[in-house]
Amino acid sequence: MNKTLTLVINCGSSSLKFALMPNESGEDPVLSGLAERLGDSDASITYKSSEGKKEESLNGGDHATALEALINHIDQKGLLASVTAVGHRVVHGGEEFHKSVLIDDKVIAAIERCSPLAPLHNPPNLLGIRVAREKLPALPQVAVFDTAFHQTMEPQAYLYALPMEYYREYGVRRYGFHGTSHRFVSDETRRMLALDPKDHGIVIAHLGNGASATAVKNGESVDTTMGLTPLEGLVMGTRSGDVDPGALVYLANRANMSINDLDNMLNRKSGLLGLSELSNDCRTLEEEAAKGHPGAKIALDVFAHRLARLIGGLAMSLDRLDAVTFTGGIGENSSLLRKMTIERLKPFGIVLDDAANEKCVRGTSGVISGATGPKALVVATNEELMIARDTLAIANASR
Ligand code: AMP
Repeated sequence: MNKTLTLVINCGSSSLKFALMPNESGEDPVLSGLAERLGDSDASITYKSSEGKKEESLNGGDHATALEALINHIDQKGLLASVTAVGHRVVHGGEEFHKSVLIDDKVIAAIERCSPLAPLHNPPNLLGIRVAREKLPALPQVAVFDTAFHQTMEPQAYLYALPMEYYREYGVRRYGFHGTSHRFVSDETRRMLALDPKDHGIVIAHLGNGASATAVKNGESVDTTMGLTPLEGLVMGTRSGDVDPGALVYLANRANMSINDLDNMLNRKSGLLGLSELSNDCRTLEEEAAKGHPGAKIALDVFAHRLARLIGGLAMSLDRLDAVTFTGGIGENSSLLRKMTIERLKPFGIVLDDAANEKCVRGTSGVISGATGPKALVVATNEELMIARDTLAIANASR
């Protein structure tokens, strides 16, 4: 009998990311991959396993075609009977969901109610859920929300200082995102440093194309940098992060920009790309900054300055700062940006261990600080594993 497995699905507007995770302690997926350009004539699906990489055309297929191809592929490998549950990443759970849940019709209706808060993300997430329920009706399906971990924030951290009617009528408040990653990485940090589960303070910096940082006190999120949407806070690949809202009013009047122009500028043309006038890719910027490109250099400086400033602010929600942990594509690989950030955190007394910092790349986790002061760490995030763990626990409890 094969080992039992959990299928993890992350549906975007034109993509479907998947991982088939062992239910036992082994953490590497048996199979993973991505279906892309769904709905276009060149839609394709790529499978990765120990046997290598394989790409197949989906002949203009949609999400249902992709899931069908995936299920057939799993079946051909003789693994379908071993799949015990399906876990779905859902971006926005609003105030409806404080933790992962078994999916039923009521849960689907509640996710639909959250859709106006994430119109680009929740509808494709729901599509994935509907298709998976149709194709695999015998399996329990679980929803794991990006926002759920941050539902422990108190009103003082989640309210904007806007008239309260907008919170009451429209749910305008800070929700935070990347919760599955922040939860996984804070658990790992606590484990690696043998911190007391009931008495610790950590700041996690999840730095990828999207980026957010979270203050975790005794296992719970107490503040985070993203807000109603994933636009608030840190500098990101193409997103601005924090901007004076007055600047937007000024631009609307002065440069005659519409709401759509501003939305497009803030989400797609800003961040590292907007500052550098070169690229949203941190690797490219590091290479060009080393050759003296002034735009690349200022983009990295603003990124590190903003990150250090917000880490400092987040620490004020903790009783004590035990550790700052870096994760995500940039956090796990850019020793340069980690160094630039830690050098700006001098008031906390964190001391960088240069040699250890250089070693933590390409998935290697570890402590990168010296013996004194709060610790700095690198932890490779694993959202699929966290989704699989939640899915397995909830599916088992439901049987
Ligand atoms: P993610 O969204 O988590 O996949 O992260 C994507 C970001 O990680 C991009 O900005 C990449 O340039 C960055 N990244 C990946 N590898 C490296 C590296 N070796 N050095 C610097 N940045 C990297």
